This record gives sequence, structure tokens and C-alpha cells, in this order.
Amino acid sequence: AALVGRRARSWLRWGRAVAVVEGFEEGCATPVGRLRQVVDAMAVEMYAGLASDGGSKLKMLLTFVDTLPDGCRDLENDPAVEISPLLGKTFQMLFSNLNSVLDEDGIYYALDLGATVCRVLRIQLGGRGSKIINHKVEQHQIPQELASSTSEEFFDFISLTLQEFVEREENGINQVPDERKELGFTFSFPVRHLSISSGVLIKWTKGFAVEDVVGKDVSQCLEEAMSRNGLNMRVGALVNDTVGTLALGHYYDKDTVAAVIIGTGTNACYVERSDALIKSQGLLTNSGGMVVNMEWGNFWSAHLPKTSYDIALDDESSNRNEQGFEKMISGMYLGEIARRVLHRIAEESDIFGESAYYLSVPFILRTPLMAAMHEDDSPDLREVRRIFEEQFQIPGISLKARMLVVRVCDVVTRRAARLTSAGIIGMLKKIGRDGISGVAGGRAKGKPKRSVVAIERGLYTNYSIFREYMNETITDILGEELAQHVVLRVVEDGSGIGAALLAAATYSSNR
Ligand code: BGC
Ligand code: MG
Repeated sequence: AALVGRRARSWLRWGRAVAVVEGFEEGCATPVGRLRQVVDAMAVEMYAGLASDGGSKLKMLLTFVDTLPDGCRDLENDPAVEISPLLGKTFQMLFSNLNSVLDEDGIYYALDLGATVCRVLRIQLGGRGSKIINHKVEQHQIPQELASSTSEEFFDFISLTLQEFVEREENGINQVPDERKELGFTFSFPVRHLSISSGVLIKWTKGFAVEDVVGKDVSQCLEEAMSRNGLNMRVGALVNDTVGTLALGHYYDKDTVAAVIIGTGTNACYVERSDALIKSQGLLTNSGGMVVNMEWGNFWSAHLPKTSYDIALDDESSNRNEQGFEKMISGMYLGEIARRVLHRIAEESDIFGESAYYLSVPFILRTPLMAAMHEDDSPDLREVRRIFEEQFQIPGISLKARMLVVRVCDVVTRRAARLTSAGIIGMLKKIGRDGISGVAGGRAKGKPKRSVVAIERGLYTNYSIFREYMNETITDILGEELAQHVVLRVVEDGSGIGAALLAAATYSSNR
């Protein structure tokens, strides 16, 4: 009788664990109907954010980037350059001269400040100043303390990182010592731009809290740090990481109309027509368009499937009521959402054993670890067991419990990936690039245009299930045929290289 009683109790507890997961799954549901509502909400909020400052949770920030680099201008591929056999030699000589002239002042640097790493880059441009001849990237971990240091410490750290890189690079290279260099500064936080090369930090995201920077011109802060440290450089372009990614994406492929970052944080930018920038009436651009930084991490809509876990996560965050979309879809938070559900399971049942203390520690489950459990394809879920043992000090959970863990990861990731894709389609819809808008009598007018969205960062590049869910969702929303016209293209190191390209373009257009 005692055994029967124990079994019954164990079943009861298992049932409670399953109920936690089922409740969570229900709360995270993203049927296509709901995704379409998110698509529409995104498009509507974009209009509102463009109409007036504060008109929407979407800030729709102007970037002052009105032309995007175009790699087709390189010599070999330029159809405008015809070299006749007779003139060939002279032309080539001319061009190689031109190249060497341009090469000399064709060195640009970029500093790409992300949430966890700081990248420094050196790019050599040539061939009418627009072709990337080569580039070098170095990546440095950002010490955690930096996120809550003072403004001076913060900018000293990044300018020293850059300075050491520049010195290593130029050691031995014959060059004019005091020549000032142009820098592309990728700053991946919301900035209100004053010009293409300057702008004021609106607020921090992704756990950063260097309070005395908020409200300051970050280019100026960096330039002051550089001159304190004797580095002769000027910020030629200040860009959001999405904007850098868009620039490099466009350099590779002229159909690139938008860019999305889905890493620690998330955001998107796209090319908007100047006459749609209602809030900056009268602003003329050379190209008739401008890149708009949406800051979609702060998007919110009642259609988003929010659970009690999301509410608790937000309540305990350092930026409560902000970055609501980001907190559901980006890498800083996915592992933490899963951790909260697992912790709940541990409270409701003993399927993880008696002591599951570590599951109560915020942010102990980083998203890459969650992805590793999710993508564990060994039949006995060995990786899940290992992570539970090593990370949470919980040994020997049953296979059934491990399967439940994988299911939790799947629910978190699927919701995130599907919402990200809905966001992308909402953005394309706003600019009439989803193939559906502009419909007349239910039929699309003309052929839908091919639209490339440059995409970067870990969730898309390193997490294949996330990527698959995203791609699948685009088809779910648009249908097989229209989905073919939407191309998500990974642009490696785009945020940094793109910033250097924009610095170069700004420099040459001001010369
Ligand atoms: C920031 C954006 C940035 C994104 C991706 C967000 O938290 O607000 O400016 O583009 O993260 O790095
Ligand atoms: Mg910007």
C-alpha cells in the first residue's frame, strides 16, 4: 500500500510538472492569425512613430544615412567601364595609379561596440574608393564591470582597445604619422542623431547602465577619450549596428531594403522614403530616402502572447516596461524565460530532485546553453543531462524530465522566432514589400519585388532551430509563393564593416 501511495504521489507530481509546461505553451501560442495581427500592429506603429516623436513605442529614429554603399561600383564588375583592347593597357595603368592613390587614404577604422564584445576593424578601400580590398577584425570581450562604470572609464576602455589595435596594425607600415583617421563608430543603443556623425544616447538597453552617458553625444565622448589617449581620430559616422549591417548588405546586393539584428538584443532598420518622415517635415535628402532605425526592441502590442513569466522577468529587470519585444525574442532573455519555467516546475514537483537551488538564480541559464539543450539530438539527451549536472548541480534527472526540459526550450524559441518573422513582415508591409499590400481586388498589382533583409548575430547564425522556425514562419504568413521574394541574408561583420563604409562615404562626400 505504501508503494502504491508513493507511485500515486509521484504521478501527481509529474502531472503538475506537465501542467506547468502546458500552461506555458498555451500562453505562448502563435497561430498564424495572431501573427498576422502582430504584422499589422508593427506596420501601424511604424506609421505612428514616423508621424511624431513619442507617437509610438517605436522610436523610428532618423539616422541621416541617405545613401547606401554599392559594391557594383568596383572596377572589374562595373558595366560602365569598357576597356577596348587598344586602350586596355593605358586604362589599366591609369586605374592602378588611381588605385594606389586611393589606397593610401583608403584606410578606415571601425569600432563596433556590442553588448558582450567590442570589435575593432581596419578596412582598406580602393577602386574609386568604394571597393573593399581587405579588412581585418579583432574581437575583445567586454568586462562585465564596464556595463556599470562611469562614462569616462567606459570610453577610455573602448578607445584604448582601438588604440592598441591601430598601433599593432600600423607598426611597420609607412605612413604619415599625424594624419587624422576617420572612424566608423557602431553604437548599438538608441541614439537621437544630430547628424550622421553625432547623436545623443536616449537610454541604455541590454543591461547597460553607465548612467552619466544618457543624454550625452556619444561621438563627442569617444572623441574626447581618444584625444585624452593621444589617438588622432574622428568619428566620421555614428551608426546603429542594424544600420552598419544594412550598409554592407546593400554593398553586396542592391535589393537589400532592411536589416535585422537578433542577438543579445534585437532591432531593425530599413530604407524609408523622405516624404514618409512626417515628423521631420521638410528634411531633404539627396536620394529621396533615409535609413530609419526602428528600435523595434521597444515594440509593444496587445497581440503579443505575454505570459506570467514575461511579466515577472520584466518586473525584475533594470529597464521595467521597456524593450518588451526584445524581452520576448532576444538572446539576453530567452534562456532566462526558460529558467523561470524550469524553476516553476521544480517548485511544483520533484522531477528535478529535492534540491534545485541553482534554478532559482536569475540568468544562470544563458541562451547558448539553452540552445545546446534544445539541439541535443542524442537519443538519451546526454547534453541536457550534462548541463543539468554541471550548471545546476542537479544530477541524474530522468529521461522523461529531460524531454520536458527540451520542450520548454522549444516553446520559448519557437515563440521568439515566429514573432521575429512577424516583425520582419510587418516592416516589409509598411514599405509595400510584402507582396500583399497594394492589393487591388485581392490580387497583387504586378510582380512582387525581391526584397533582401540583411540579418546578423547569434540567434540566426548559430541556432539552427531558431533559424528554421523563422524561415518556416515567413512561409506560414505569406504563403509559399510570396515568401520566395523575401530573402534573409546573413551579412557577417556587417555592423562594423558597414560603419567603416559609411564613414568613408561621408568623408569623401564632404571633401
Ligand atoms: C538596442 C538597439 C540595437 C539592438 C541590437 C537593442 O537593445 O536598443 O539599438 O540595435 O539592441 O544590438
Ligand atoms: Mg543610428
